Amino acid sequence: MEQVQRETMEYDVVIVGAGPAGLAAAIRLKQLSADVSVCVLEKGSEVGAHILSGAVVDPIALNELIPDWKEKGAPLNTPVTDDRFYVLGPKGALRMPNFLMPPLMNNHGNYAVSLGNVCRWLATQAESLGVEIYPGFACSEVLYREDGSVRGVVAGVMGIAKDGSHKPDYQPGMELIGKYVFIAEGVRGSLAKEIIAKYKLSEGREPQKYGLGMKELWEVKPENHRQGQVTHTMGWPLGVKAGGGSFMYHLEDNLVSIGFVVHLNYQNPYLYPYMEFQRFKHHPLISQVLEGGRRVAYGARAITEGGFQSVPKLYFPGGVLIGCSAGFVNVPRIKGSHNAMKTGMMAAEAAFAALNEGRAGDELADYEAAYENSWVYEDLKRVKNVKPMWSKLGLVGGVALGAVDMWLNTLFGFGFGTWRHGKPDSATLKPAADSKVINYPKPDGVLSFDRLTDLAFSATNHEEDQPVHLQLKDPGIPIALNLPMWAEPAQRYCPAGVYEVIIEDGKSPRFQINHQNCVHCKTCDIKDPSQNINWIVPQGGEGPNYPNL
Ligand SMILES: Cc1cc2nc3c(=O)[nH]c(=O)nc-3n(C[C@H](O)[C@H](O)[C@H](O)COP(=O)(O)OP(=O)(O)OC[C@H]3O[C@@H](n4cnc5c(N)ncnc54)[C@H](O)[C@@H]3O)c2cc1C
Ligand code: SF4
Repeated sequence: MEQVQRETMEYDVVIVGAGPAGLAAAIRLKQLSADVSVCVLEKGSEVGAHILSGAVVDPIALNELIPDWKEKGAPLNTPVTDDRFYVLGPKGALRMPNFLMPPLMNNHGNYAVSLGNVCRWLATQAESLGVEIYPGFACSEVLYREDGSVRGVVAGVMGIAKDGSHKPDYQPGMELIGKYVFIAEGVRGSLAKEIIAKYKLSEGREPQKYGLGMKELWEVKPENHRQGQVTHTMGWPLGVKAGGGSFMYHLEDNLVSIGFVVHLNYQNPYLYPYMEFQRFKHHPLISQVLEGGRRVAYGARAITEGGFQSVPKLYFPGGVLIGCSAGFVNVPRIKGSHNAMKTGMMAAEAAFAALNEGRAGDELADYEAAYENSWVYEDLKRVKNVKPMWSKLGLVGGVALGAVDMWLNTLFGFGFGTWRHGKPDSATLKPAADSKVINYPKPDGVLSFDRLTDLAFSATNHEEDQPVHLQLKDPGIPIALNLPMWAEPAQRYCPAGVYEVIIEDGKSPRFQINHQNCVHCKTCDIKDPSQNINWIVPQGGEGPNYPNL
């Protein structure tokens, strides 16, 4: 095999991913000592380009990290002033009284934000402390020491052609070596996946669970705008058999963030999450806000939903998993950014103590101990049964029992034990032959759009001549197995229309991957029933260019 010569750079801590977790970790390290060397690597073209969230943010972690964030100009400009929760039917909506909700569901004191913009601001804070941030650097490989510990990562490989040859702009990338490596890739990270498997970090835990979140940003008519209003819904159009729900957050400048999450444990392979989102916008509760407005951005990203019982072991020789690489989203609150930040900060404190003792490349077990004594642990513990109860008992029974469990945990510190998730999301589809075809209304081009039109509003771009970053372990499976068995669900679950089954007259069906369209949501890696798709990073600086999602 050809030996690649690469430049090497050494740091105390190398951080993969400039989301809330990675940036909070970097800031905390530099706050502890200006002498600690820290770099953050980000595959997006700039910090924030790949960040997609709701987002209503609980500022608890930010208050700890940068107590004077207001004076420092953090873009948290919209306090939540009006908090609404509805169960939708096809035409009507039943508002749940706020007093029925456990206090942890209350959004007062939280802020409606663009998490991408919050990350851009965190990056400026980190840089002012001396953190080196390298956007456009996709980390494609984990480097190991001879003793098996993680030594660093390879980042910045560019200019490889589809056939594997080197193009004129070829760059071999760099080796970024760290005494400790923090994996902060967010949901279903490609390096995290390798590390979790290698060190068996999920052994004895429940499988991680996921949802697919799709989001549009709308500029609405001023008379329809209610700055600070946040609305959550469940029910229609998903009905009682598939889990999920929506969010609608009124931000500043007449902007409304509207999103729809489909739990990826759905069973009917004909379910088409993107089209569920589109028809949802025609509900009167939503359409009355959007009518006369315009959609300004679109994107999608998976969200971790396994919670408390799915959190893996958090450390391995030479590094840690922080944020959604481990999965700290509180599902009923649809909030994970506060926990992502806090876990980054706790890992930073553990690494700093180890560096002070002259250690390197070993296990940061103190980080896991800190997590177990933290408010993150309590945040997840109180809501641990909501997701499995919903999955097992459906919308009505599951959500009702989940609410009772949350109340018991809030009032007395205990509930109905710890429910199990059971299967991973890749194992939940029923055969197409036993499932009902779902016919979706055609998008009207005003409130609802077809997938490719919406995709244009994600500013996604990939160099065409490069190895396809959606690797099929067996290229025959989509047509030979997935098509007859599950009507090849990738055609529908991908929110960017990357996967197509092409049927031409007189020819056998053909599976096509339009890799240029990929918005890096990771759903295919999660949901493919044959677990045949492996998502790896394309060249850095590619993928979506979200302005403020
Ligand atoms: C639709 C949706 C709605 C949500 N709503 C809310 C909400 O209202 N409030 C809330 O608090 N939370 C919400 N969340 C959850 C929240 O967004 C996450 O918990 C949070 O973003 C996790 O932060 P993170 O830093 O772990 O990962 P991320 O925010 O995902 O950041 C990871 C970063 O790492 C980069 N990266 C990944 N792999 C590599 C690699 N190999 N090389 C280089 N860079 C890499 C990515 O490009 C990205 O920039 C929502 C999530 C979704 C999907
Ligand atoms: S190809 Fe996979 S990761 Fe890319 S947008 Fe489609 S489902 Fe998401």
